[in-house]
Amino acid sequence: ISEAEQAVLDEIEAQDVDFLRLQFTDILGTVKNVAVPARQAEKAFTEGIYFDGSSIEGFVRIQESDMRLVPDPDTFAILPWRNDEDSAAARMICDVYDTSTDEPFEGDPRRVLKNALERAEEMGYTVNAAPEPEFFLFEEDEEGRATTETNDAGGYFDVAPKDLASDVRRDIIYGLEEMGFEIEASHHEVAEGQHEINFTYDDALATADNVATFRTVVRAIAAQHDYHATFMPKPIPRINGSGMHTHLSLFTEDGENAFHDEDDEFNLSEEAHAFTAGILEHAPAITAVANPTVNSYKRLVPGYEAPVYVAWSDRNRSALIRKPAARVPAASRIELRSPDPSCNPYLAFAAMIHAGLDGIEQDLDCPDPVRENIYEFDEQKRDEYGIETLPSNLGQAVDALEEDEAIYNALGEHVAPKFVEAKRQEFEEYLVDVSQWELDRYLETF
Ligand code: GLN
Ligand code: MG
Ligand code: MG
Ligand code: MG
Repeated sequence: ISEAEQAVLDEIEAQDVDFLRLQFTDILGTVKNVAVPARQAEKAFTEGIYFDGSSIEGFVRIQESDMRLVPDPDTFAILPWRNDEDSAAARMICDVYDTSTDEPFEGDPRRVLKNALERAEEMGYTVNAAPEPEFFLFEEDEEGRATTETNDAGGYFDVAPKDLASDVRRDIIYGLEEMGFEIEASHHEVAEGQHEINFTYDDALATADNVATFRTVVRAIAAQHDYHATFMPKPIPRINGSGMHTHLSLFTEDGENAFHDEDDEFNLSEEAHAFTAGILEHAPAITAVANPTVNSYKRLVPGYEAPVYVAWSDRNRSALIRKPAARVPAASRIELRSPDPSCNPYLAFAAMIHAGLDGIEQDLDCPDPVRENIYEFDEQKRDEYGIETLPSNLGQAVDALEEDEAIYNALGEHVAPKFVEAKRQEFEEYLVDVSQWELDRYLETF
């Protein structure tokens, strides 16, 4: 076994870990795990742990169901909410293998992201990503079920006592730090009951792992405080929803930021401009993956700091892509503002990365930045500027994904059709449903 694997075995010994949770995600981004006694760790590294893949959303059919999990030792972390003096539980994130071929399973979202990173590597780049996940904290009812009652009435950057959640947020941050996160900042977001915690950028694979972990930690620690944390994109109408802005940059093999150019007006290199152009070009298809729920599209409407129009800007926040101010060359990056935290981070990052690399490969021209508030543009002005609109519902987004070969292929032969099928079904279920809004509006009128 490798040095990293041995270090994990030592750590298990030292920390009295008795259970290991081996994690992976299904195509919808839901974290799945199997618990094994910690003494199985060595076997997990050398042989893997077998499981039934046919029970996992988007994996395989029953007749080809044997799959194998191989833990990535770099992802070992003690679970802070399951840690006491003489026993602890830890988790590792796993790669999924197909037992019939003994190759990495192409339906594993982590594999899909690794494919994107391999393409970047062939072009001479590593990819850095940093997300800004937002979430709401809601009260639970007497039976412990989530309500949509926010736990406070705070607003952007408010401090206690208005921000009643600062204790919960502090415990969440301690928990994340114990799991190896480097937290940069946390604040009360614009909406009541809404919060954001930022962690430092890392390579895109580690960041996707972090997003999956983050959601689990936030929910578990909020629950200890009798709150329900939700990453649903728009739980309350007519106030801000929850986004997961994603910052991206490419670095070269010698550790230079390939997105930085001192001489450019925006300090962005040609690669950064072409990468941006690639994302703009493929934006509708990316939306299906980065905004994969019916509810995601209730967030992507004008007026709530969420993007609706396909444009980039070096200042205003109504654009799809923003170029944040960078204090040092290493920090030159772009921020994609459409993703929301209901996405599968592995698939969403893969889609963005392929789109950007496509822009570089095809040497796409980047349009001029738009510095005005695009929410206030009418259709004519948008036409004049050549600004497209993002898909306005999940059905349109899935259509766009199917029409965009580059992004569809980015998901791989296995995941793409399964993802499209699952999302079409979800949208059709929604279409035939009758909502509370309709009842309120029509039941007594007609
Ligand atoms: N909540 C906003 C969104 O939906 C973002 C607000 C912010 O971070 N400034 O994207
Ligand atoms: Mg932020
Ligand atoms: Mg924010
Ligand atoms: Mg942001």
